[in-house]
Amino acid sequence: MNRYFLTLVLTVLAALPASAQLLSNGKHSDSTDRFFQIESWLPTPTESRLASGAPGPRYWQQRADYQIDVTLDDQNQRLSGTSRITYRNQSPHTLRYIWVQLDQNIFRSDSDSATTRTAPSFNSRVPFNTMKSILARESFDGGYKIKSVSDANGTAMDHTIVKTMMRVDLKSALPPGESTQFAIDYEFNIVDAKLIRARSGSEYFKEDENYIYEIAQFFPRVAAYTDYAGWQHKQFLGRGEFTLEFGDYTVSITAPKNMVVSATGELRNADEVLKPEWAERLNQAKQSEKAIFVITPEEAKENESNKSRQTKTWVFEAKNVRDFAFAASRKFIWDAVGVDVDGQTVMAMSYYPNEAEPLWSKYSTESIAHTLQIYGRYSFAYPYPVAISVNGPVYGMEYPMICFNGPRPEEDGTYSKGTKYGLISVVIHEVGHNFFPMIVNSDERQWTWMDEGLNTFLQYLAEQEWEDDYPSRRGDPEKIVPYMRGGNQRPIMTGSEEILQFGDNAYGKPATALNVLRETILGRELFDFAFAEYARRWKFKRPTPSDFFRTMEDASGVDLDWFWRGWFYSTDHVDIGIDQLRWYKIDSGDPDESAERKRQERDKKEPTLSKKLNADLPKRITWQPGLKDFYNSPEYDPLKAEEDDRKAFQKFLDGLDSDERGLLRRKTNFYVVKFRNHGGLVMPIIIRVHYNDNTTEMITLPAQIWRSNSRQVDKLLVSDKEIVRLELDPRRQTADVEYGNNFWPPKLVPSRFKLFKDAKTKNPMQKAEAKKKSKSKKDKADDEDADESDKSDKAESKNDDEDDKESDE
Ligand SMILES: [Zn+2]
Repeated sequence: MNRYFLTLVLTVLAALPASAQLLSNGKHSDSTDRFFQIESWLPTPTESRLASGAPGPRYWQQRADYQIDVTLDDQNQRLSGTSRITYRNQSPHTLRYIWVQLDQNIFRSDSDSATTRTAPSFNSRVPFNTMKSILARESFDGGYKIKSVSDANGTAMDHTIVKTMMRVDLKSALPPGESTQFAIDYEFNIVDAKLIRARSGSEYFKEDENYIYEIAQFFPRVAAYTDYAGWQHKQFLGRGEFTLEFGDYTVSITAPKNMVVSATGELRNADEVLKPEWAERLNQAKQSEKAIFVITPEEAKENESNKSRQTKTWVFEAKNVRDFAFAASRKFIWDAVGVDVDGQTVMAMSYYPNEAEPLWSKYSTESIAHTLQIYGRYSFAYPYPVAISVNGPVYGMEYPMICFNGPRPEEDGTYSKGTKYGLISVVIHEVGHNFFPMIVNSDERQWTWMDEGLNTFLQYLAEQEWEDDYPSRRGDPEKIVPYMRGGNQRPIMTGSEEILQFGDNAYGKPATALNVLRETILGRELFDFAFAEYARRWKFKRPTPSDFFRTMEDASGVDLDWFWRGWFYSTDHVDIGIDQLRWYKIDSGDPDESAERKRQERDKKEPTLSKKLNADLPKRITWQPGLKDFYNSPEYDPLKAEEDDRKAFQKFLDGLDSDERGLLRRKTNFYVVKFRNHGGLVMPIIIRVHYNDNTTEMITLPAQIWRSNSRQVDKLLVSDKEIVRLELDPRRQTADVEYGNNFWPPKLVPSRFKLFKDAKTKNPMQKAEAKKKSKSKKDKADDEDADESDKSDKAESKNDDEDDKESDE
């Protein structure tokens, strides 16, 4: 009776070789367990940092308040000043010294940044700007000149400079809960940021002999002392940004009389430094619908021409910021508008020269307002009184309340699409950095992705709410595919200085990962709640990667270890393909039906070649008739059902209940789809199924389907309809790098050959002949110097510039 078990009729619709999933000894390889928890990679939770990812009851962080007086020397592009620091030890530890960051020392010719810089990837062709920059770095007299370090009584303190850091030794140890004061007198030469790529510096305008100064890292800043690393001791090499403490700042900036100064914080002496009409317009701007000029383009032109040696001192105050920056120039136009943020008016303001018009008055301040509104929705209400965008030499760099942005139109005021959206995007990005890392104060020196990745993700969301089809450079899964497919990669969880392909690794990939997490893994509702919870928990505190990973799981209620493991700790990519589709139907068991089916199959089969060629050969049984018997007769059919078979089937049916008999009559289709994971990164399998009645169905199988075998899985699809076609990830939401294997049946994607002619080699003899022939005529042949092969070289040097630009943002 064995043959009457429920059997399925199998039709193999496509077959590809299946590779071994087991090691030769029959044991599974551990490296394929993409769901092994990452707990052992994360620091052990403490009462400072809880297992939930929230700051705990013992959470602490240090605080440093600053009183700074600086003078800007416009004759010599030099800054000098005094920084008075009140350091508050809120840790449970006693400190004997305080480390201070001397970031300007990166511009010394013997800095680690200079000596460890490897040769640029040029061959014999060097852009002028690159050569100028190389030579300027050699000759620039950069770095802090520390004139004195003294305590509150003015007594000199011992200090040791270690490259971009300085240890200030305390006369007596600083116990928990106590504070100490010290002052540093210093000066430094301001770097020409148009020549030497930097996060601050000057730009010179030949025509009117004016400068724009964008000044940052301009005072010795207290290094961070943390529960997870003690004193921050990674040197500043240029890429890994800053690890800083919060504090209150009062900063007095003395600059030439006709300069306009903009800074982190609120202007405290507007009466002394602003013309009455400027103050009046600034007041109007608070209530205005859109940005209005505080200083008009014409007034900026007037300021440009007045080179008075007299000075003015601008006083700014900023509360609870982790840094301070400012900009100064005679060239500044100033526009402003009040933005309502949860009932508080925040002043969105832009400062730019006439050279930035008409682009800047149209887009800069509006982009600031947009950023505050959109970022606020996904994190928390912007807590500072001003948000400022300044145009100058720095392409894109963020500081609390103020940022520096580069894009400008052509001299004639026209601009490319790239410049327009480049400006809107960079303003959104840099203003967005107020949220990450200026307020959610992650450690940039160690983990670039924690600010750049999160910020680029929110930048993408903000851009998509600016206009339909906004040309976002990053965020959409499709955009990261070329990087994911390529080589020369390190995981996102790589130290800031050791990252390869900086822009894609630290900006693009984490932004895409978060977008995928939001749209495809968690859904918007769960993701947005968890992300806002992370922002809320760590606002004005210092999160680490584990705090982010744990909070996202804790608040969404979803285990995401596999996701962090794949996207943040590995360089795997997504490439899921369909290997095979097998089709089963239930065999009714009826011997007559079975015989008929087998006969049809047999008749459908094309005869083999030999059979065809042998057909005409004379056969022995034809001329020796006595050889034929029952088996050669037409009545005999090996496939025919016999009475015995029918009886046996009836007996089988009699032993079944009515449900079981019903099952045998079902016409349901059973499909087994074999999926293969070629890329390694496990992701949900998203399939659009096309049926024979022209309907479709989207099916999403969670990533956990890969949990016992991350290389290959079979999935059973059951349907009363017949499948005619399968598409994997048709809405391109997983960054699958190979679409060729996403279809069943396979689909041809045409490519095109581009034809070209080989360039001719030079023939000086021909030139000489031509000259002879047209002695009197002017020789036109000289302009053929640049031949075709020159053009292909130009593309190479571009890549470097591109990557350079990334690290500014
Ligand atoms: Zn950035």
